[in-house]
Amino acid sequence: MSTYDSFPNRILDQVNDGAYFVDRERRITFWSKGAEKITGYKADQVIGRHCYDNILMHVTDCGKCLCKSGCPLQATIDDGIVRDAEIFLHHKDGHRIPVHAHTNPLRDDKGHIVGGIEVFSDESSQANNIQRLKDLEKAAMIDPLTNIANRRMLSSTLEMRFAEFKRNDWQFGVILVDIDKFKNFNDLHGHQIGDRILQLISRTMKHACRRYDLVGRWGGEEFLIVVGHTDTKQIVKTAERLRVLVNQSFIQHAGCRLTASISAGVTLALPHDTIESLVSRADQLLYESKHRGRNCVTSDLIRPESHENASNDVPACSVA
Ligand code: GH3
Ligand code: MG
Ligand code: MG
Repeated sequence: MSTYDSFPNRILDQVNDGAYFVDRERRITFWSKGAEKITGYKADQVIGRHCYDNILMHVTDCGKCLCKSGCPLQATIDDGIVRDAEIFLHHKDGHRIPVHAHTNPLRDDKGHIVGGIEVFSDESSQANNIQRLKDLEKAAMIDPLTNIANRRMLSSTLEMRFAEFKRNDWQFGVILVDIDKFKNFNDLHGHQIGDRILQLISRTMKHACRRYDLVGRWGGEEFLIVVGHTDTKQIVKTAERLRVLVNQSFIQHAGCRLTASISAGVTLALPHDTIESLVSRADQLLYESKHRGRNCVTSDLIRPESHENASNDVPACSVA
């Protein structure tokens, strides 16, 4: 089987990263499809030539040429140690491309180094930029502790829901959730275990909601769930489901099952509402839940005129 057809080479051809093999003299023996895409050089233009032969002409960000001295692939061939380097390679059209290069020795059956392999990823590629943007976007929108939406994402979703509500009369509502006696919990078990409870509750609520409802951390030990396309009966049912499921979730710590309860305030958006007035109403209802003994859901049963046919058999409060 020729070098080109071998199994690993075919795999290397399918990834976007560039890859090439050299022998001990740094003569190129394999050049992947990714390498063709990133450098502009076709395999038949480089195979058999030396990598320092006016092809890649690796330079550092200071412009130091690595081909004759400082080549990471050469160093790996010499000492067998894998290396990572941020370098700029030469594109066939003349410009420079930043790449992350990873070098590995190639060994024969007896373990002798017979060459090296360099895999390089285009740090400037569109895919990388898109991924980086996604990462940044995620960092800006996701709460790092609980991995659910943060307040910023909740606010922008609320704005979207308000716009849909005004434009299409799509009713939505919110559930404001607060962990009961969480300060005591932290005092008793420590802040780290408290953090695990925050993560546990987040996961339970996230899995218990519909795909288009958004569960987020409003701040501290408070969560907000934005429930789209809903009515009183459905949103109260959702809140009640969250309460019950959270109460039945637990973490194991020091041989004990630790659990927590939540209280919630539930309300539907009204045409004149703002984010502040909506959340503040939910907060009042949450306060009522606390006042009534916690581990319960309180709703104001607002029924906007546009949703007259929503069922009215839901109790104003439900206590566990
Ligand atoms: P209540 O039932 O009235 O809500 O009582 P509570 O103790 O939960 O309320 P309080 O506002 O007195 O305390 C909130 C606690 O939440 C105190 C604070 O340390 C804890 N908390 C807020 N954010 C975090 C966090 O990120 N991690 C941990 N472990 N605790 C947090
Ligand atoms: Mg609180
Ligand atoms: Mg609390």
